Amino acid sequence: GLVFLDGEYLDFAQAKVSVEDRGYQFGDGIYEVVRCYRGIPFQLGAHLERLEKSARAIELDLPYSREEMEEITSELLARSGIQEAQLYIQVTRGTAPRSHFWPEGIKPVVVMYVREAAPPEEGLRRSGVKVITVVDDRWKRCNVKSLNLLPNVLAKNRARQAGAFEAVFYEEESRLVNEGSSSNVFALVADTLVTPDLGHNILPGITRKVVLDIARQKGLPVKEDRLSLDDLYRAQEVFITSTVVEIMPVVMVDELPVADGKPGPVTRMLYEAYREEVEEAIKK
Ligand code: PLP
Repeated sequence: GLVFLDGEYLDFAQAKVSVEDRGYQFGDGIYEVVRCYRGIPFQLGAHLERLEKSARAIELDLPYSREEMEEITSELLARSGIQEAQLYIQVTRGTAPRSHFWPEGIKPVVVMYVREAAPPEEGLRRSGVKVITVVDDRWKRCNVKSLNLLPNVLAKNRARQAGAFEAVFYEEESRLVNEGSSSNVFALVADTLVTPDLGHNILPGITRKVVLDIARQKGLPVKEDRLSLDDLYRAQEVFITSTVVEIMPVVMVDELPVADGKPGPVTRMLYEAYREEVEEAIKK
């Protein structure tokens, strides 16, 4: 892998940030993960736009323009030579003696790096995966892609302890589904593709958007709406989406099989169309 830090391209062993980086001490920062296929970043514009939104939401001025970040991305990919890559972008408020107040004029720290992508095993996409559901105990601004991922980390590891691939957050009172710990959730209910509508409870996933666009192009009935836990249990098909996982069929929710417990045809069709979209994007 290769790291961009403070204007320099460095090996991982050389790229160091301060122990007083506010990302380290307060989680005071934002991030993005971008998948690169054959050396070309997928949906980079959408990721950088979301990063800009996250920055505005936490009152941080990004030190680089979108064009500059695109250039750094190209450099990282070219210099590292990694074809199937994951690009990680992190911007923290900066470094300063520890205080909740941030000093005036503090300079954000931008880290961008590429590593070999770590996609899920292909066998999982054929078999489908299990998810568990957990009460959403995160903060009320989940539309911001902030570094504060402790509830997500705990939920994901609870999933692993339960032999599941992902934990899906739901609201305790309303029993409405929000999203996974690092994914968005879709369900096919009464032949309509349903995914929770955007708001403060979920991240506006880039993959979610691509999948919604594909589904609409394919003439599939689509609703961005409330999705209840009961909908999830009774759905014809369920899948999760993310940059890294793309589209993953879910065949078990808690201890209940989804329909016949096999990945469904709509999920498969959407995944194939997603892969075609990727192929199109990297051909240009
Ligand atoms: N929701 C959460 C909480 C996430 O962390 C992620 C990505 O890791 C997603 C949804 C999926 O977003 P995207 O498709 O932009 O990767």
